[in-house]
Amino acid sequence: MNYDVIIIGAGPGGIFAAFELMQKNPDLKVAVFEAGHELSKRHCPIDGKKIKSCIGCKSCSIMSGFGGAGAFSDGKYNITNDFGGTLYEYIGKSEALELMRYIDKINLKYGGEGTKLYTTAGSRFKTLCIQHDLHLLDASVRHLGTDINYIVLENLYADLKEKVDFFFDTSVDSVSVIEGGYSVKCKAGEFSAPDCVISVGRSGSKWMEKVCAELEIPTNSNRVDIGVRVELPAAVFAHLTDELYESKIVYRTEKYGDKVRTFCMNPKGAVVNENTNGIITVNGHSYEDPERQTENTNFALLVAKHFSEPFKDSNGYGESIARLSNMLGGGVIVQRFGDLIRGKRSTPSRIEEAFITPTLNATPGDLSLVLPKRILDGIIEMLYALDKVAPGTANDDTLLYGVEVKFYNMEVEVDSKLQTKYKGLYIIGDGSGITHSLSHASASGVHVARSIAENK
Ligand SMILES: Cc1cc2nc3c(=O)[nH]c(=O)nc-3n(C[C@H](O)[C@H](O)[C@H](O)COP(=O)(O)OP(=O)(O)OC[C@H]3O[C@@H](n4cnc5c(N)ncnc54)[C@H](O)[C@@H]3O)c2cc1C
Repeated sequence: MNYDVIIIGAGPGGIFAAFELMQKNPDLKVAVFEAGHELSKRHCPIDGKKIKSCIGCKSCSIMSGFGGAGAFSDGKYNITNDFGGTLYEYIGKSEALELMRYIDKINLKYGGEGTKLYTTAGSRFKTLCIQHDLHLLDASVRHLGTDINYIVLENLYADLKEKVDFFFDTSVDSVSVIEGGYSVKCKAGEFSAPDCVISVGRSGSKWMEKVCAELEIPTNSNRVDIGVRVELPAAVFAHLTDELYESKIVYRTEKYGDKVRTFCMNPKGAVVNENTNGIITVNGHSYEDPERQTENTNFALLVAKHFSEPFKDSNGYGESIARLSNMLGGGVIVQRFGDLIRGKRSTPSRIEEAFITPTLNATPGDLSLVLPKRILDGIIEMLYALDKVAPGTANDDTLLYGVEVKFYNMEVEVDSKLQTKYKGLYIIGDGSGITHSLSHASASGVHVARSIAENK
């Protein structure tokens, strides 16, 4: 065996698995294989001037490389079992929370000291929301911000690279079971170890499916979340974001009884493109540094769709809707709320005349030609409901960018150690379908590392 542990993927799951292995047993020989670049070489070519939209780089710097999909994220580490994944179903609620608090301590130690921890506990907004049939979920949120999140990653890498072998721009092609462990093949050669941790995130979803099929690891289909990113003047949500930073609010629509939720709130932030396997969707982030903040706040409004027999391909459904927006708009479409409810497409001049300046250069268009009626009706209902707790939300100039899709990996069958039916083969983070957030993915990495280190 070349290594004691092989980790595939250097997102938060892989990073924290490597980190914890080094804490528990610094003598272990650990290798991390990462399809993307090392942190300092990760640059998205979109500069808003020469390159305005996604050009489909071979390795997407937003999604891949050291830091994974989280590297340029807003760095919101939610400490909660209420959202962000179902890790607690495998390892128990108190351990999941304990691990998330542990991750928080490490983030503070590695550069996050001084960042703010927001909490919904005892918030007066809970009452205000419930009075309007809106439900505010419980969480503590450490907001690192895109800038500090990057510094934390830089510091973690500086520490880890002394102890761990990193192989960047090295996509693992296959994983096979060999006597006493696992062998991985990639352009750098063939490597083996008794323990192998797979943490390939969303961008590795197709590859993960292939590995599970080859190794006959059982999987289940997951849900897909479809909706829009809302952008409005920061003042509209300031009373909520100043106190809570991020509020996760759920609403059940009157018309269909569907649940619509707010997701990934970015006060004074910017709306950004996201490229998942060549499909351009929308996301958002914000900076801790006041100089880089904008006058707008953005957040997603999402409706979850889960399919059962005979149609199971939730992600395929989400992809088709995103493709439709790419077909009509050449990428992401933006529409004023006022235009949407009057059945008009937004035009460049209507967007220009609005009292808000969009932070993303998207194509003005008509989202009603893209989103299924049921989903769009739910979003419109939720915007009116939010208008009661944050008046101004349903103003004509509120911008809606579409589509935002949250794809989830199929859920892989693992036990309470996050181990597959093969001893020593672990699948963690977003690639397992169990987590879908920085804190849960990181916590899953620490969990497997402790279990591996215990048995060495
Ligand atoms: C723009 C954006 C903003 C976000 N903001 C937040 C936020 O504020 N808070 C939050 O909680 N979550 C946020 N998220 C989600 C969060 O980033 C993910 O939940 C988290 O990164 C998942 O971690 P992971 O380690 O499981 O996977 P990832 O971070 O996706 O990392 C997986 C890594 O594996 C690599 N890989 C894939 N296939 C292979 C292969 N075959 N061989 C080798 N390497 C491979 C990939 O290149 C990638 O670097 C955001 C996501 C995006 C895209």
